Amino acid sequence: MTGDWRWFRLPRQAFALAAALTAGLGLSACGSSAGRPAAAGPQAAAPSVASPARATSGTTPPASATPSASATPSAATPPAGAAKPLAGKIIGIDPGHNGRNGTDPSFLNHLIWNGREWETCDTTGAQTDSGYPEPLFTWRVARFLRADLRRDGAQVVMTRTSNRGVGPCVNRRAKILNRGHANVAIDIHGDGGPASGRGFAILEPIRDGPNDRVISSSERFGRDVRRAFLRHTSMPESSYDGVHGITYRGDLAGLNLTRVPKVLIECGNMRNAADARLLTSAWFQRRIARALLAAIIRFLTR
Ligand SMILES: [Zn+2]
Repeated sequence: MTGDWRWFRLPRQAFALAAALTAGLGLSACGSSAGRPAAAGPQAAAPSVASPARATSGTTPPASATPSASATPSAATPPAGAAKPLAGKIIGIDPGHNGRNGTDPSFLNHLIWNGREWETCDTTGAQTDSGYPEPLFTWRVARFLRADLRRDGAQVVMTRTSNRGVGPCVNRRAKILNRGHANVAIDIHGDGGPASGRGFAILEPIRDGPNDRVISSSERFGRDVRRAFLRHTSMPESSYDGVHGITYRGDLAGLNLTRVPKVLIECGNMRNAADARLLTSAWFQRRIARALLAAIIRFLTR
């Protein structure tokens, strides 16, 4: 456990106040747990009633959105003619934030219920010191992962269909993946932590009612993701968030409201120069996708 526990021990009014203060600040980073109020969480849920124009919920995006860069073969991909390891499986992907979230602060900052407390609809996400935005990073990793998953026979459910919109809110993202009956789901983020801190962190749910039946399976999936990240990428475990790259969170709608096995991964710290060089590289974004693919295959086929 980490100091995050303190957040949901606070009175509900404290969360509402924190959310209101965060909303007043306008922009919020996809920050680490350290010193961050629950309301500023990166992975919020979407409003139960969202503007159709903004909440670009959807299932499978058009084929035209498939990344043009075909990834190199990996150990996770079976040879041609072999049975596809993910045939019949449904995988949920939530690419954190959205490319135009910053254009509609009133929508972004309205409060939604995350299963425990009120928090803002979403944030703009983090960015590197050179201005590379987190929503673009998460979207590109998600597209690589979607292509890999489809190649291995899976059906993919996405929480957004482009990087040119606003929303959906984090509670709605959780509902999209629940209603899609995903066998497992991954929330993809990049952190906005302290500049001196490096590495990935896997955020796991804490039992709160809606997610009770997927706590142990999510923990197992989290171990698979951690193992795959260490094996398939050069990103180290976080030096500032959690223990051995694992942390538990009760303040995020995406984890509080999930009814399918799920973890959220902060793939690295966008505010750290070494991590930023990796996270902004298309090659490394493909490596992340391959690591997540390996974790998903291990989780579902073991
Ligand atoms: Zn984020």
